[in-house]
Amino acid sequence: MQSLRLNALYNLISDSKNQLAPPSKKITAIFGENVFSLKKAREFLSDDAYKSLVSSIKSQSKIDRRMGDQIASGLKAWAETRKVTHYTHWFQPLTGATAEKHDSFFTLKSDGSALEEFDGAALIQQEPDASSFPSGGLRATFEARGYTAWDPSSPPFIMEIGEGRTLCIPTIFVSYTGESLDAKTPLLKALVALDKAAIDVCQYFDKNITSVTPTLGWEQEYFVIDAGIANARPDIVMTGRTVFGHAPAKGQQLEDHYFGSIPERIYAFMRDYETEAYRLGIPLRTRHNEVAPSQFECAPIFEEVNLAVDHNTLLMDVMTRVAKNHNLMVLLHEKPFAGINGSGKHNNWSMATNTGVNLLSPGKTPKTNLMFLTFFVNTIKAVHDHADLLRASIASAGNDHRLGANEAPPAIISIFIGKYLTDVLNQIEKRVGDKFDEQDEAILKLDIHKSIPELMLDNTDRNRTSPFAFTGNKFEFRAVGSAANCASAMTVLNTIMGETLAQFKVDVDALIDTGEKKEVAIMQIIQKYIVDSKSVLFEGDGYSEEWEKEAKRRGLPNVKTTPLALDAFVTDKAKKLFAHHNIYTHSELEARHEIMLENYVKKVQIEARVIGDLATTYILPAAIKYQNILIQNIQGLKDIGIEESGYANQKHIATKISEHIANISTSVESMIEARKAANKVEDSREKAIAYCDNIKVHFDKIRYHVDKLELLVDDEFWELPKYREMLFLR
Ligand code: ADP
Ligand code: MG
Repeated sequence: MQSLRLNALYNLISDSKNQLAPPSKKITAIFGENVFSLKKAREFLSDDAYKSLVSSIKSQSKIDRRMGDQIASGLKAWAETRKVTHYTHWFQPLTGATAEKHDSFFTLKSDGSALEEFDGAALIQQEPDASSFPSGGLRATFEARGYTAWDPSSPPFIMEIGEGRTLCIPTIFVSYTGESLDAKTPLLKALVALDKAAIDVCQYFDKNITSVTPTLGWEQEYFVIDAGIANARPDIVMTGRTVFGHAPAKGQQLEDHYFGSIPERIYAFMRDYETEAYRLGIPLRTRHNEVAPSQFECAPIFEEVNLAVDHNTLLMDVMTRVAKNHNLMVLLHEKPFAGINGSGKHNNWSMATNTGVNLLSPGKTPKTNLMFLTFFVNTIKAVHDHADLLRASIASAGNDHRLGANEAPPAIISIFIGKYLTDVLNQIEKRVGDKFDEQDEAILKLDIHKSIPELMLDNTDRNRTSPFAFTGNKFEFRAVGSAANCASAMTVLNTIMGETLAQFKVDVDALIDTGEKKEVAIMQIIQKYIVDSKSVLFEGDGYSEEWEKEAKRRGLPNVKTTPLALDAFVTDKAKKLFAHHNIYTHSELEARHEIMLENYVKKVQIEARVIGDLATTYILPAAIKYQNILIQNIQGLKDIGIEESGYANQKHIATKISEHIANISTSVESMIEARKAANKVEDSREKAIAYCDNIKVHFDKIRYHVDKLELLVDDEFWELPKYREMLFLR
């Protein structure tokens, strides 16, 4: 039988043509056609139902049952114009994927007559069987139920899969006793906390500001490779990454991929998934090649955080599905291939007011600049004070391969702000003191005002090595993993910002109460915050060893592995913070911590099994087969009387193969033993640490010898597609 690898290569070469995408329609002609936007709601709902929907979106209030019935029937009427037969509550449980349970509109009445029905009850709340979703012990066994509840702030949409069309209703997912079991519930709460605290601070500057909405623009990196080839790699199928594979002769050293022309087959795939994304209202704007071969990126125009998060999770689904139509496979894993860049998902974040102001955009007048400085410095303080939580929010088994491994961004959370703003902060630090008077204030305002506009020119000296960078009018959280749900990072970022702004208000008010002028009080607290948090600012090379040392001197945390990084979620400080802002109760936090540890263990466990299996059933047999050929050859040469020097090389190779085989076998054995021991550990945290310290350590050792064998063994015997085939053939 021909190996999967050779089959895949053969198929790739013979039928990868004819992949041209159909000519695309104008984007505006299709944008949002599968979304129940407010415009469509206007058309399909009665006045009352429409008003009630709008007000519930604005105030995040509940919709009553009667209105629910009306909205549901309008929604169904719209969906039926688009040939929808089923609906589902669409939610984001803590498995990392999205979940759906499809129900048909079709129903039978008691008299047996058939009817299509969708009422308010079905729209507003459902009870999926929750027992198969992770709960971290929150759902006691006697009460396995949870329920999903409609989130009106994210509009319903239609998912098209082939001929099937399903109406998806974005929902939250909570246990019967009200604890959150998903990614969205805490995120929505964090957005409320931020809004409240930010409005209070905005009131110092502009009484017209009555709401503040955080914004998110993510940049999704991913790899795409031929599906036939990917399917011949059990490691990719099972874990999303290659656990073995020698670096190809050509890697990314030529730097010829970045912004290069997009290969035709990939281009066709991109056009297809973009079309689907546009119809779902996802405002994609840029697409380009990334640094590594076969790596790409797409990014939308930014949106409100909640919607942006939904759109990102939705897009990851769409991409994965559409790729199959092109016989391609999308790899969202943070590190699918060793030796070349991994993938991240930069989270560009800012805050927008109801008056249309971006709070992280330097202003045009001294007054608006003071508002900018306030939010800018508060962000720095928030990141400084809660760097451990931000780190924890992006911790995952996949992201461990990027953070703190030999690739960036590092596990140290630091902030890059650029030269001009560094100067501005230095000025403030120097000049604002206790006896800071109105004249100082005037001078400073002018100085700051002079230097800030130049910021806009500063975009070129962006520091790509910083995990958290100010990029002109937003912060860019770059350490988020490519496969992550942005909700985790966004929940933490918005919570800590809410916390910091609330404290800022308390501090400034205290000064005002002592008779200080408002602007002066604000400047003085800003100055204090700069002093308190400047250790988190770093403009140098974040990938360098010196920075690790320097960060240590500054006392910045540098936690390199997930099991330890997650500790930050259950410190007293974190518990108080999240409870205070009504994001998580203590037991919710404990439960989440538990779930994240369990996820980590499962991921590493699966990898360990795949590595053991592949090494034993793919790699060693190939090595032995080839070694046998060498032995036959040596024997034959001996038999016809050739001297030792005539087969010394063959003997040398055969010996090396034996050494690698021995090393692999021993390491696989030790890894299995370590797994047995770790599986007996009861405590989740201890178990995760055991998986990290005692099991994962074998991965690189085994890989080293496997990769050496790849260079020795006859190519024809090698069953796993090689890096050059995965990365360069399409
Ligand atoms: P890059 O970081 O690759 O140089 P850009 O600076 O053009 O690219 O922007 C990257 C991302 O930042 C885009 O997805 C964009 O939507 C997002 N973005 C721009 N402004 C904001 C904002 N005010 N809030 C959130 N995201 C933003
Ligand atoms: Mg970017």
